[in-house]
Amino acid sequence: MTAKIIDGNAVARHVRDEWKKRVEALKARGITPGLAVIIVGNNPASRVYVRNKVKACAEVGLHSETHEFAVDTAEEPVIARIEELNRNPRIHGILVQLPLPPQLETRQLLGAISIEKDVDGFHLYNVGALVVGENNIFPPCTPYGVQCLLEYEHIPIEGQNVVVVGASNIVGKPMALMLMAKDATVSICHVKTRDLAQYTILADILIVAAGCPGLVTAPMVKRGAVVIDVGINRLPDGRLAGDVDFDSVKEKASYITPVPGGVGPMTVTMLICNTVAAAERNAAKNAKNIPVST
Ligand code: NAP
Repeated sequence: MTAKIIDGNAVARHVRDEWKKRVEALKARGITPGLAVIIVGNNPASRVYVRNKVKACAEVGLHSETHEFAVDTAEEPVIARIEELNRNPRIHGILVQLPLPPQLETRQLLGAISIEKDVDGFHLYNVGALVVGENNIFPPCTPYGVQCLLEYEHIPIEGQNVVVVGASNIVGKPMALMLMAKDATVSICHVKTRDLAQYTILADILIVAAGCPGLVTAPMVKRGAVVIDVGINRLPDGRLAGDVDFDSVKEKASYITPVPGGVGPMTVTMLICNTVAAAERNAAKNAKNIPVST
C-alpha cells in the first residue's frame, strides 16, 4: 500500500476560496474583517510567521495590522494596546505572536484579549469552552486545520482510535479535545509515555506533534492508518522535516501529510476563518441591537 498524500496547499486554497465568498458578503454590508497581530521582539521565526499571516489576510481580502514592540517592553503597554484593540470596531481578531520574551507573562497577555476577538483560541474561556464541548468558539488554528484536512478527505472520525503524540496547549491537548468531541477514542502521548509504539500501533488516526524529527517509523504504524504529521523541524542540513519518517511510513499508511505542504498551510488558513467568523458574529450581534423602526 502507498498512502494518499494529503496536499495541504490545495486544501488550504480550497478553504480560502470558500471563505473569500464570506468576506465578500461582509464587504457588501460595509464590513471588512480585520486582524491585529502583536509581536514583541525580533524572533526571526515569529517574524516569518507574522509576515505569512499578513500576506494571507491580504489574499483573502482582510484588513490586517501588525503592532510591534521592542524585546524589553514591559507588560503594561502591551496590555494597554490589547485593550485599545478590544475596543476598535475595525478589528475583529487579535493575536499575540508566541513565544514572548521572558519578562512577559503569556497567560496575562492572552487573558487580556476580548473572548470575542480571541481568534487563536488561547484565552482560558475558549480553552474551557473546548473542554465542555461548546460549539460557538474559536478552535486553535493548528488542530482546527488538522480537523479540516480529515473532513476534506472524508476520513471518518467517530468511533476511531486516535493517538495524539504531543500534549502541548497549542496543538496536542486541543487536538485531542476536538476529536473527542467528534466521538473518537483518543489517547495522548508525551515525553514520559513508556513504549510509545505500543500506543501508536493501535491508531486508526495517528497525529504527531512532538517536534522530534523521525520519531515515528513504519513499525510503529498500523497498516492502513491515517498519519498526520504536525511537526516542523529544521535539520542540520537546512531542510525541513516532520516528526514522521515519511518515506517508510507512506508505504504502510492509507493517508499521510507531507512536511512541508501538509498541516502548515492549514494553520494560517484557519486563522483567516476564525477572523471572518468573528466579524460575522459581531455583525449578527450588532444587527440584533439595531432598533426596528415602526
Ligand atoms: P511543544 O510545546 O514543544 O510540545 C511538544 C509535545 O510533544 C510535548 O507535549 C512533549 O511532551 C511531546 N514530546 C516531545 N518529545 C516527545 C517524544 N520523544 N515522545 C513523545 N512525546 C514527545 O511543541 P508544539 O508547539 O506542540 O509543536 C510540536 C511540533 O509541531 C513542533 O515541531 C512545531 O514546530 C510544530 N508545529 C507546527 C505547526 C503547523 O502549523 N504545522 C503549528 C504549531 C506547531 P511533554 O509534554 O511531556 O514535554
